[in-house]
Amino acid sequence: MRLLVTGGAGFIGSTYVRGLLADPDGATVTVLDSLTFCGNLSNLEPVMGDPRLTFVEADICDGAVLQDLLPGHDAIVHFAAESQVDRSIADPAPFVRTNVVGTQTLLDKAVEHRIGRFLQVSTDEVYGSIAHGSWTEESPMRPNSPYAASKAAAELLAQAYHRTYGLDVVVTRCSNNYGPYQFPDKIIPLFLACLFEGREVSLYGDGEHARDWLHVDDHCAALHLVLTKGRPGEVYNIGGGTELTNNELTGLLLEAGGAGWDRVRRVRDRKGHDRRYSMNIDKISTELGYTPRIPFSSGLADTVAWYRANGHWWRPLMERAALPIPVT
Ligand code: NAD
Repeated sequence: MRLLVTGGAGFIGSTYVRGLLADPDGATVTVLDSLTFCGNLSNLEPVMGDPRLTFVEADICDGAVLQDLLPGHDAIVHFAAESQVDRSIADPAPFVRTNVVGTQTLLDKAVEHRIGRFLQVSTDEVYGSIAHGSWTEESPMRPNSPYAASKAAAELLAQAYHRTYGLDVVVTRCSNNYGPYQFPDKIIPLFLACLFEGREVSLYGDGEHARDWLHVDDHCAALHLVLTKGRPGEVYNIGGGTELTNNELTGLLLEAGGAGWDRVRRVRDRKGHDRRYSMNIDKISTELGYTPRIPFSSGLADTVAWYRANGHWWRPLMERAALPIPVT
């Protein structure tokens, strides 16, 4: 199988690619990535010399590049996106450009070149916020941030291309990922980096926002199941089953960093901040046999150890990771 992986130099995409290439009988991979501030070629360093990997630095909005690149690929796994909610609140335009127009450009070329399968990597954030219970795939999409709205638009386009042009599309909606190589503008690597450097961390509002956490390796395993066995046109939720408020998560990270609550600065809440996410994963479990394998406690311990040992990876990224966080 020859796969085109967009956004393969980012956190989840690079984990997926490293995993594919670790299997000697696995796929041949073309990574297409424009290396935005969060794309990082060093994420692919462990597999860069693999003859099954081709890296192309290009933008998914560039139809001419896609025209030349797509022929010969069996499937597209589409990770490339602007992915940080605070940045989408500060400036939504790049989110619409990459996540909506970029996805539509890619879908057009996938139809034209009769690509066998298109996996749209989406997010639980398209559902909005849920006070009680969990979302199933039938729950309505009520995105609140510009990021979530752009991801909802992208997957609606993907589903429309399935129904209108017969493109074999599958969509996944995953909860919050954590693990090595996550860009330090997301809560776990950002807080760890700040704590390791003796700095304060900024916690939004009352900190009672709840998220479902999943190790990135479990997400990638689920994606591969959906890519290879998912039914055309279907949507699959992917979750980890570990629900934590940001206060609870911060407590664990402080403990890991050997720091106390005096290092936490409460800042004004994020605009439109979703209160709670929760996923029902019965469909992917029953149909495709998915179960998350990495317990949060050991996954977090390994992640902390990785960030502790890999300061040379995250330290140079801290300046461009700086966020537009409102301070009270
Ligand atoms: P990331 O920000 O680490 O990586 C995104 C990658 O896309 C980067 O390498 C970047 O250079 C590339 N990219 C951005 N714009 C591009 C463009 N116009 N053309 C080509 N490449 C471009 O993001 P991530 O956390 O790895 O997320 C990957 C995907 O998974 C995204 O689609 C995101 O919405 C989805 N997702 C993420 C999470 C999470 O917890 N991180 C959860 C569910 C779904």
